[in-house]
Amino acid sequence: MVTHVTQGSAFHQDDIIWVSCAERVWRAARVLSADETSVSVEYAGEDDDVEQAELSLHGKAAPKLLRRNAELLGQGALRFDNLTEVPELHEAAVLHALEVRFAQGCIYTLTGPVLLAVNPFRSLPLYGDDVLRRFAKPTTGAAQPLKPHVFGIAAKALEGIRERYASQTVLISGESGAGKTETTKFVMQFLALTSATSAGNEDVTSSTSSHRTHRAPAKLSLVERQVLGSNPLLEAFGNAQTLRNDNSSRFGKYIELQFAKPTQLGDDVPTPRMVGARIHTYLLEKVRVIRQQEGERGFHIFYQALSGANGDSRSVTTGAEEELEGFKGYTLDSFRYLNKQEMDNEVEQFEATLVAMDAVGLSKTEIRKIFRVLAAVLHLGNVTFQDEGESSKVENGGTSCISCDLLGVSLDSLSTALTSRTLRTPEGLIRSKHKSDKACGCRDALARHLYHAVFNYIVQRSNATIGFQKNLSFCGVLDIFGFEFFQWNSLEQLCINYTNELLQQYFNEFIFENETTLYQEEGISWDVQDFPDNSSILELLHGKLEGVLPMLEEECFHVGGSADAWCNKLVRLYEQHRHFGHDRLKKGSFIIRHFAGPVTYQCTEFLEKNKDELSADLVQCLKDSEDPFVRDLFEQLDRVFGVSGAGASAPEGRKSLGGSSRVLKAQRYSVSGEFRQQLKELLQQIQSTEPHFIRCIKPNPQNQAFLPDSEKPFLHRPSVAEQLSYQGVLAAIKVARAGFPVRFWHSDFLREFRCLAPELSKDLEAIVKQLAQQEDEEKAARAVKSLLKSGAIAAVLTSGWAFGKTRIFLKQEPYESLRRLRAVT
Ligand code: ATP
Ligand code: MG
Repeated sequence: MVTHVTQGSAFHQDDIIWVSCAERVWRAARVLSADETSVSVEYAGEDDDVEQAELSLHGKAAPKLLRRNAELLGQGALRFDNLTEVPELHEAAVLHALEVRFAQGCIYTLTGPVLLAVNPFRSLPLYGDDVLRRFAKPTTGAAQPLKPHVFGIAAKALEGIRERYASQTVLISGESGAGKTETTKFVMQFLALTSATSAGNEDVTSSTSSHRTHRAPAKLSLVERQVLGSNPLLEAFGNAQTLRNDNSSRFGKYIELQFAKPTQLGDDVPTPRMVGARIHTYLLEKVRVIRQQEGERGFHIFYQALSGANGDSRSVTTGAEEELEGFKGYTLDSFRYLNKQEMDNEVEQFEATLVAMDAVGLSKTEIRKIFRVLAAVLHLGNVTFQDEGESSKVENGGTSCISCDLLGVSLDSLSTALTSRTLRTPEGLIRSKHKSDKACGCRDALARHLYHAVFNYIVQRSNATIGFQKNLSFCGVLDIFGFEFFQWNSLEQLCINYTNELLQQYFNEFIFENETTLYQEEGISWDVQDFPDNSSILELLHGKLEGVLPMLEEECFHVGGSADAWCNKLVRLYEQHRHFGHDRLKKGSFIIRHFAGPVTYQCTEFLEKNKDELSADLVQCLKDSEDPFVRDLFEQLDRVFGVSGAGASAPEGRKSLGGSSRVLKAQRYSVSGEFRQQLKELLQQIQSTEPHFIRCIKPNPQNQAFLPDSEKPFLHRPSVAEQLSYQGVLAAIKVARAGFPVRFWHSDFLREFRCLAPELSKDLEAIVKQLAQQEDEEKAARAVKSLLKSGAIAAVLTSGWAFGKTRIFLKQEPYESLRRLRAVT
C-alpha cells in the first residue's frame, strides 16, 4: 500500500485528496494545482466556507497526502459493509468510512474477515430476537447478505461447527471500555439462544435486547443457563469501576463453549446443541483488593455485598442476610481497603450475582462461606501494627478478631504469622521479626491471595458444574485486555503487551493466509515482501535462551537478585536490539518498541510483583484454620502460588483448568512464568481452531454517546485513528494489500476505464449497461480482457497488475499511470 504520495506531480487539478493534520487526522481537500514541490488545495469546510492553502511538500513538517476515494463521498461509505471492497484502501479511507457509518448508527463494519465494532455507548435496537433469528438461520441461499454484525460472526463460527464440526475461536480485542465484554456476551448469548431454539424451544425469550440484562431466559437448557450465568458472576468478582470504564474487567477470560455433534432431525438444518463449557481466566488484578487509585473502586462484589447487607430496605428481598453477617452494620467508611464511591443499582446487581451463584451450582453454604472470606479480607485491611523496637505487634486486637473469627484462625497464630517469619538455619529454625511496614506488606499479601483464591474457587466450581467433555468441538471466546501504555508501566503492562504481541503475530499469520487463499481463488500468484512481522519483538521478550521475561524470572529466583541488576543486564545484552531502547538519564527503566508503539517500563516493582510471595507461615496458619472451606482454599493456594520461607511445602503437581498437567515448583514460581505457560496453552488451543476476529473501538475517551450539546454520535477521530493503528487494523490492510493494493471488480474497472479505449467504447457501453441490470462475472471478465488489450492501456500497463477471476489487481504505480492517462484523455 502506498500510504503517502509526497510527489505533488502525482496529483492533478480537481483531484480529491486527504491531507494529514493533527486535529482531524485527515482533512478532505480538492487540488487546485500541483507541482513537484507544492500542492495548492481547497479544504472542504464544515459549512459552506472554503479555505485554501498552499502546502509545501518538502521538509519534516510536510503533510501526507492520500487520494480520496470517490466511492466514499457523501454517504457512500454506507454502501461498503466490507471496506476491502473500496478500490484504494488506506488509513484515511477507513477512518472516514467508520465515522460516516457510526453517525448513522452502523457500528459494525468489516475489513476483510475482521469485524470492527465501534462502541455506541447507548442502547441500540440491534440485538432483539428478530435480529438474532435472522442471523441464526443458516445463510445458504439467503436472499440478501446480512449487514456486518457481532451475531454474524457468531453465526459464522456456529456454521463451522455445524458444517465441518470444526472448533472455532472468536478473538475480541480493544482497549479498556471499547466493548469487549459486551461483545463477548452477545456472542455467548447468540450461541446459547440458537442452541436453545434448535432444541425446539421456539419461545425462548432473548435477554439480548438490553445489554445490561443478566437474567437468563426461562427456556434455556441447564447448561445454557449456567453458561450465561457465569458472566454476571465473573463480572461481580473480577470487574471494577476504573477511570476508563465503570465496568472494567480486571482479568482476561477465555471461555470454550462445547457443542454436541449435530444430528439431522427431519428436514430441518441441524443446529449444534451446547452441552458444556470451560472458563479460563488470566492475570486477575488482585492488587486492586488492597488499593485503588483516586476515582476508581475495588471489585464490584464488595460494594454489592455491603449494599445487600445494609442500608437499602430492599436487601431483605435478597434473602441473603445470613450469608452477609461479616458485612452487617458496616459501611464503605468502615474499610480502609475500599475507595468510597457508590454506584447505582448495587442491590439489583447483588441480587443478580446471587442468582448467578445459584445458576452455576454454588450451594447456600458455599455462598455463605465465600462472603465470610470476602468480609475477612476487608476486616483484615483494617488491622494495623505498632513498632516495638525491631519488631512490631498488632495494634487493634478487636478488628483483628473479627477477621480471625471469619477465617477460623486464632488471633495469636495470625498475628504471629503477620509479624514474623520462620527461617531455617544450620542451627535450626529461628523466628525473624518484622517491623510494622513489613507486617503491613504481609497483611496485604494475605488479603490479595485470599481474594484470588476465592476468585479461582468460583471459576473452578462453575467449570465443575457446567462440565466439559473430551473430544467435542467448541467455540472459544477470548475477552482479553488490549495493548496498554501509561505514564508508569510495570509488570502488568509487560504481561498484557506480551499477550498482545503473541495475538498480533497470530493475527498477521491469519491475514496472510487469508490473502494467499484469495489470490489462489483468483488464480494469480503473488509475492509478498513487505509483510508485517513482530517475531523479532517476541524473540526479545521470550527468546529461547534469554529474553526480557526469562531474565526477569531468573532474577526472581536468584538469591539477592534485584530490579536494577535485571535492568542492567537487559541494557547490556539488548543495547543494540532494534526493538529495545533505554534512556541513560532515566535509570531503572527500559523501552520496548512494541508493534503498537514504544512503551517505557519502570523496573522498580517488577521483582516483588513477579514473586508475589506469601509467607509460608501465613499459608500454614490458614491451613490450620478450623473452617474446612478456608483450609481448602489454602490447600489449593499452596499448589497454585509460590510461597516463600522455610515452611514452603515440597513442589506438587496440579491439574490445570486446561486439563494439562502443570507442575509448579513452589520455589520456582513467578507470575510471568505461570502466565507464559498459560498463554502457551491458550495459543495452542486457539491454533487448533478456526479463528474469527472482532476489533472493538472506543469512539471517544469520555465514554459519551453524543457530542456535547448535540445529537450527533461522538467519534473522536485522533483516538479512533490511534486504535486502528495499534490494534493492527491498518497493518492488516497493509498485509492484505501488500501484493496489489488496488483492486477493482471487473465491472467497476470497465466503468472506470473504458473511456481509454474509444475504439471499443460502443461495445463496452452496452456491456456496462447490461451488467448494471444483471451481474455476469464471465461477461465482465471477458470485456476487461479486451479492454486491457487495447492500445493505450496495453502501452501503460506493462507490469504490476494481475488478472483475477472476479477482480483485477494493480500495484500503485500502474494504477497511477492509468489515472494519468485518463486525466489527459
Ligand atoms: P475493559 O477492558 O475495561 O473490560 P471492555 O472492552 O470490556 O473494557 P465493556 O465493559 O464491554 O468494555 O464496555 C464498556 C461499556 O460500553 C459497557 O458497560 C456499555 O455501557 C457500553 N457498551 C459496550 N458495547 C456496547 C454495545 N454494543 N451497545 C451499547 N453499549 C455498549
Ligand atoms: Mg471487559
